[in-house]
Amino acid sequence: MLIPESDRRGVFNSQTTVATVDLPSNLNNLIQNLQIISNYQVEDLIYKHTFYPLYSPFLPANRSNQVLESMKGDYGGDIHTRAGIMASSITMPKYFRFCPTCWEEDLKSYGEPYWHRIHQISGVLVCPFHGEVLQDSLALLHGFNKHEYYAASTDNCSINNNTVAKIRA
Ligand SMILES: [Zn+2]
Repeated sequence: MLIPESDRRGVFNSQTTVATVDLPSNLNNLIQNLQIISNYQVEDLIYKHTFYPLYSPFLPANRSNQVLESMKGDYGGDIHTRAGIMASSITMPKYFRFCPTCWEEDLKSYGEPYWHRIHQISGVLVCPFHGEVLQDSLALLHGFNKHEYYAASTDNCSINNNTVAKIRA
């Protein structure tokens, strides 16, 4: 499911925020716009939901700080260069990945699935909670349109259509 442009503009105050999975930017705006429903702080979001804590221990302190500040601000264009990811030989997975059992549990708990951070990390091939091999969705991790956001859904996690039918039966 593609998140509509008006919703994206509404949460980021910008149409040009790049949809980045690992080190997103413009997060101060996002947090500010979430204040009506949540007390979430920007650093909580960064530490608990982005790849920043995975990369930062391997960066010099000043660069790690620059990356953190770039993520909070709306000038995120150079984040990946600062984090050294552009020069790295580590390749990111091509598609968002999911664990069928996590997907099933999300549906039961929240009524919808979501992309789990741990499943998108390069080198993680098996769900650490269920021991299941991660499945590729149809949603590109680095999409054709860098301003589009895709939520996990039955459209892009097609392998789970049977699972959904099973749950709803
Ligand atoms: Zn799982």
